[in-house]
Amino acid sequence: MMNVYAFRNSDQVVEESASGGAFSAIVESFFELSNSEKKVYGCCFDDNLDVKHIGVESKEEIKIFRTSKYVESDIKGVYQKVLEDLKANKYVLFSGAPCQVAGLKSYLRVKNVKDVKLYTIDIICHGTPSRKYWNDYKEWLERVNNDKLVGFSFRYSKAKWKLYPCMARYKSGKIKVNTQDTRMFTRLFFSHLTIRESCFKCKYSNMNRVGDITIGDFWGIDTIMPEFIKQRHIDSKSGVSLVIENTEKGNQLIEIIKNKSGENIQICLSNEFIKYQHNLNSPTQKPKNYDCFISDYENYGFDFITRKYGEYTLLGRVIFDIKKILHEYGIIEKIKKITK
Ligand SMILES: Cc1cc2nc3c(=O)[nH]c(=O)nc-3n(C[C@H](O)[C@H](O)[C@H](O)COP(=O)(O)OP(=O)(O)OC[C@H]3O[C@@H](n4cnc5c(N)ncnc54)[C@H](O)[C@@H]3O)c2cc1C
Repeated sequence: MMNVYAFRNSDQVVEESASGGAFSAIVESFFELSNSEKKVYGCCFDDNLDVKHIGVESKEEIKIFRTSKYVESDIKGVYQKVLEDLKANKYVLFSGAPCQVAGLKSYLRVKNVKDVKLYTIDIICHGTPSRKYWNDYKEWLERVNNDKLVGFSFRYSKAKWKLYPCMARYKSGKIKVNTQDTRMFTRLFFSHLTIRESCFKCKYSNMNRVGDITIGDFWGIDTIMPEFIKQRHIDSKSGVSLVIENTEKGNQLIEIIKNKSGENIQICLSNEFIKYQHNLNSPTQKPKNYDCFISDYENYGFDFITRKYGEYTLLGRVIFDIKKILHEYGIIEKIKKITK
C-alpha cells in the first residue's frame, strides 16, 4: 500500500456526489495526463432508471456517473469496448466495484491486450443487490404512488436527515424525500437481505486492492483527522472521501490533484481508517434470515417482503414517521449523546 488521503472537493461537486467527490477530482487529473484521446467508464442511470456502465469522452459528461447507485450495474459489452479503446491507443479510466475492475483486467489478460494506458478506480463496496430487486422496487413505488418514477437518488444531499437520504421524483412533478416507501430499497439493502449471495464470499473485501486508486467514505475522520473537518467547518457526515493510492498510476493521478488543489487533500498517516471499514477487512456477513427472505421473495413477491421485512404496514408507517421527525430535528442524535 502506498499513501492514504482525506479529500473534499468543492461544495457544489460534493452536493452532486456520494461522498467527498474524489471520483470527479481523479477524472479531472486523468484528463490532464496527455493530449491523447480519452474515455471514462462508470456507472449511471439511463432514461428508464436502469443502472448500467457506459463510456464517455469528455470531462463535462462524467456528471452522470456521480453518486452511488446501490444496484449491480449492467456491464454487458463494456469490457469489449474498453479493449477496442485501448487497441485504438486511447487512454481509458474505468471505475466500478472491485469485482468489475478485476473482471476487466482478467478479460484484457486473456485477450492479450496491454493495459499501459488503462487507469482504474475501485470503490469500497459492501455488496450489490441484483437488478431484479431494483426493477421490482421501481414497479412497487409506481404502484404505491400511482405515478411514474422519473428520478431517484440514493444519497440526496439536500435532505435534512443525512444518513443515506433517498429522493424519488415522479412524472407529475411530485418529489418525495426520505419517506418510508422512498427508503424501502436502501432499508433492505442495508439489512444485507438483498445483497447477492456471492458478495458474502467477496475476495476483494480486503486491503489488497485491484484498482490503481480505491475510493470510499472516510468513516471515523472525526477521531482520525479531526483537524481536517474543523479547518473546513464541515460536518463529518457531509462528505469526506477516503482515497487510497495503490499503484504508481494512482500516484501519478493523485500528484496532479495535490498540485492543483493542495488544500483539498491531506495525507492520513494512521492505519486507523481500516477499523471503520468492514469491507477493507472482510466481506459483508450473510444475515441469519437471508435464506428465509429469499424464499419469501421468490414465493410471495416484493409486496410481501416490504410488509414482512420493511414494516410497510399501517403501524410500521406511523412509527417510521415519528422516527423521521426525531431524526430531522436532531433529537435522536441528542439522546444518543446524553446516554453515551
Ligand atoms: C454498491 C455500493 C456499495 C458501497 N459500499 C461502500 C462501503 O461499504 N464503504 C464505503 O466507504 N463506500 C462504499 N461505497 C462507495 C461510496 O458510496 C462512494 O461511491 C464512493 O466513495 C465514491 O464517492 P465520490 O464522492 O468520490 O464519487 P461519486 O461522484 O459519487 O462517484 C461515484 C462513483 O461510483 C461509481 N458507482 C456508482 N454506483 C455504482 C455501482 N452500482 N457499481 C459500480 N460503481 C458504481 C461510479 O462509476 C463513480 O465512479 C459503495 C458504493 C456502492 C455503489
